[in-house]
Amino acid sequence: MTDLTALTITAAQDGLRRKEFTAVELADAHLTAMERARGLNAFVLETPERAREMAKASDARRAAGNARPLEGIPVAVKDMFCTQGVRTTACSRILEPFVPTYESTVTSNLWRDGAVLLGKTNNDEFAMGSSNETSCFGPVISPWRRKGANTHLVPGGSSGGSAAAVAAFLAPGATGTDTGGSIRQPAAFTGVVGLKPTYGRCSRWGIVAFASSLDQAGPFARSVADAALLLRSMAGHDLKDTTSADRPVPDYPAAVGRSVNRMRIGIPKEYRFDGMPAEIEALWEKGRAWLTEAGAEMIDVSLPHTKYALPAYYIVNPAEASSNLARYDGVRYGLRAPGGEVIDMYEHTRAEGFGKEVVRRVMIGTYVLSAGYQDAYYVHAQRVRTLVKKDFENCFAAGIDAMLTPATPSAAFGVGEKSSGDPVEMYRNDLFTVTVNMAGLPGIVVPAGLDGQGLPLGLQVIGRPFDEETLFSLGAVIEKAAGTFAPERWW
Ligand code: GLN
Repeated sequence: MTDLTALTITAAQDGLRRKEFTAVELADAHLTAMERARGLNAFVLETPERAREMAKASDARRAAGNARPLEGIPVAVKDMFCTQGVRTTACSRILEPFVPTYESTVTSNLWRDGAVLLGKTNNDEFAMGSSNETSCFGPVISPWRRKGANTHLVPGGSSGGSAAAVAAFLAPGATGTDTGGSIRQPAAFTGVVGLKPTYGRCSRWGIVAFASSLDQAGPFARSVADAALLLRSMAGHDLKDTTSADRPVPDYPAAVGRSVNRMRIGIPKEYRFDGMPAEIEALWEKGRAWLTEAGAEMIDVSLPHTKYALPAYYIVNPAEASSNLARYDGVRYGLRAPGGEVIDMYEHTRAEGFGKEVVRRVMIGTYVLSAGYQDAYYVHAQRVRTLVKKDFENCFAAGIDAMLTPATPSAAFGVGEKSSGDPVEMYRNDLFTVTVNMAGLPGIVVPAGLDGQGLPLGLQVIGRPFDEETLFSLGAVIEKAAGTFAPERWW
């Protein structure tokens, strides 16, 4: 039998359909791979019993002729998604003992469609970070290494565990959340496909809240077609999330392979920054050539407020985070540190339960929302956000169908390289991704090449609201031209 962990979702579906293997065998192959890869620290909880039980039920449904769209497909779930009866921590000490009594809408949609839970993946604490180094379970090690070196690299963040699991063949697909780039940046660092849908496309219900006006769930996979399959199941209207969109879910997989002839692709000049590595510029150029060859037209556009997006994001994001995290008081969830008076108990619990980056966000958020400063910071940042969004709207109104940009300012960096010094160093990683969250737009990252050190680099395509289909069509063109990339196994 072929190595079942090497299969894409699409190939695994074919094999299951043809009865070449069972869902239980498929799950077992991945569980074994996970066990061997524990050194990567991609999973914070493996759920082998649950996986086998779900796979068995899946095999029974198939045998009865009731196969569903993702029947028997194993997936890894970021530890930001509440999973009923399965510990969910957001990788924070404050939620360490938390076992939800409910299931997030996105994951229950996956189970409804026949998918199988392999385990919960590591992430930055409360999804705050770009390297997966703020997790209370320790960093994730990327399966990628620089040519001829064995320095441990970060997989990106905050969904570093999901990205590493998919890149290292521990799962064919995974869920992530993206508030400022947390799906797209790790996808770029690990050479996999990652998509952040339009705000409202996936329900946020049952996902640990970080910055509610920016958070969106989305898929990781090793092909554009697989990402489309996963999104079709994850997306949809949900009465439990008033910001989820009441619109039908298109047949995303049908958009893969569709012609992009005559599409008008915007090339935003503000995404070229001083000191941009030549390799990133060259990759972008290649992307333009591939899309041109497929019949699309490249048009230089301007998004003049781009440079304000990152600073505005780092006001809006902590503001929302500080109010969302007010609920962790030692009473309602998770950890409680004893103290004399109730206020002491709150303070001890939060001091013990939250890591450094979380404390920083709570402090900044509380400051920018405090009386006297709110207008100068928070209200101002919201105005900037509107301008960032308008820049995109103007381009789309002028007939631009999508934008092509680099995904990240560099390839993956080393563990510890950026986490000890100035936090702004880390925040700069989100340069090309936060604009998309600020504007509520969909964005896909597709692996597009390797740098001189053999590390993956990605390209990003940003689309009109609710036009994920165009992203899948354009993403498939890039994928076809660039090929796919996998790390050499050393773990
Ligand atoms: N790196 C960004 C941050 O720390 C984005 C995180 C995310 O998208 N969850 O806020």
